[in-house]
Amino acid sequence: MRRTKIVATLGPASLHRDTIAAMIRAGMDVARLNTSHGTLEGHAHAAALVREVAAEEGRHVAVLMDLAGPKLRTGETEFTRTLELVPGHEIRLVNYPVAGTESLLTVEYSRLTEDVQVGERVLLDDGHIELEVVRSSPEGVDCRVVAGGSLGPRKGVSFPGTNLTTPALTDKDRAAIRVGVEASVDYFGLSFVRDADDVVRTREFIDSLGYDTPIIAKIERRQAVEHLDEILAEADGAMVARGDLGVELPPEDVPVQQRLIIASAGRNMIPVITATQMLESMIDAPRPTRAEASDVANAVWDLSDALMLSGETAIGRYPVASVAMMDRIIVRAEESISESDGIGMAAPETDDHSYVVALAARSIVESDLNMRGIACFTKSGYTALLLSKVHPNAPVFGISPSESVCRRLALARGVTPILSQTATSSEDLLHVVDSSLLGGRYIVEGDEVVVVASLPVRAQGTTNFLKLHRVGDAAEYEW
Ligand code: PEP
Repeated sequence: MRRTKIVATLGPASLHRDTIAAMIRAGMDVARLNTSHGTLEGHAHAAALVREVAAEEGRHVAVLMDLAGPKLRTGETEFTRTLELVPGHEIRLVNYPVAGTESLLTVEYSRLTEDVQVGERVLLDDGHIELEVVRSSPEGVDCRVVAGGSLGPRKGVSFPGTNLTTPALTDKDRAAIRVGVEASVDYFGLSFVRDADDVVRTREFIDSLGYDTPIIAKIERRQAVEHLDEILAEADGAMVARGDLGVELPPEDVPVQQRLIIASAGRNMIPVITATQMLESMIDAPRPTRAEASDVANAVWDLSDALMLSGETAIGRYPVASVAMMDRIIVRAEESISESDGIGMAAPETDDHSYVVALAARSIVESDLNMRGIACFTKSGYTALLLSKVHPNAPVFGISPSESVCRRLALARGVTPILSQTATSSEDLLHVVDSSLLGGRYIVEGDEVVVVASLPVRAQGTTNFLKLHRVGDAAEYEW
């Protein structure tokens, strides 16, 4: 049973019923829709298609709608030609439309002249070109070219040392959220988060529409790295967005940040996705490089909840093979270590009751009592997330009467979501656990599991119940 989950981005290469079905069979747990591309109608259609195919396949597959956020770009170039920026030359950046030349270029950021300071760096086109700000005035920001190169129209811009005042949530994102909640997507990805306030404001907006869709904060800016713990204390999940992060930070900092972000997500007890270029060469080739295989394995050993495929499945030639390859590398990596080997790094710091019960469940399931796993009955998904974060060396069965909770749990490491009936009483709970485990053939009658839940079942409380249970015995109980 694979623990680390697979997020796969859908795009022109994979947005077909048969391909989605094959990707689910190959191991896709979460389908990602990237609103930087395509139309909102297209994404709503894709979300419905994933839902339909997952139901046919009998699997809980979550849909993650990734919001484009305020990606800054340069403007058009004159005659849409490629500019040649030469080291030592000066170029003025302005925030109004001009036909860009080697000496004057638009950057689509309204607060450019207010926010950007002398001495700061400006990176163009994924960091290929580097400028340094030498003068700033209301007319524009004058820069010296430090690392030159060719620049086409409408390329990405980043300001690694600047405190940008633009919020993470744009009007385009608000429109996407409206469509996303209607399509009942399971997660929103929030791009270019700066601080906890960006998450709070997004939550307020989702809340104002009458929904509680969880928010995954994408850590891809230096500003976010500086506010990491406070952002992850607010968010429901995190993403190590290594593509943009690798533009703002030097390459040697990205693996270090990956570990720090995963550790912070562990302490905050939220799922974390490691993303971007994991099997990049499989966009064009049927097999990954050795370095990519190692990267996937290391992200598993770092205790990521999920690993993400982007171009590999969105525009690549081998979308299904990429998912299957990721599945194989993960399974092999997981076989080679004990789940709790890396736990010291990610252990949450809390005196929460539920957390202590989760730790107790872990130590029982890892004892010599020959337990087959931990079965938790969870209405909100919280107990299952908690059990995932204590990394027991045994399966966690997240049994919930809510389809939406089951889909959300598709992201959590080590958790197998199982849709159940509602438990009407404490007594009924064990019947529900038995029928869920036996019905799905996860466990055979007579095997023992640790049952964890919150009692009484009708209340919204903390995880406070733990039982060593022989599966099948509930039928004989008289309460
Ligand atoms: C990234 O930058 O790594 C990322 C996941 O974001 P996006 O693909 O939306 O640019």
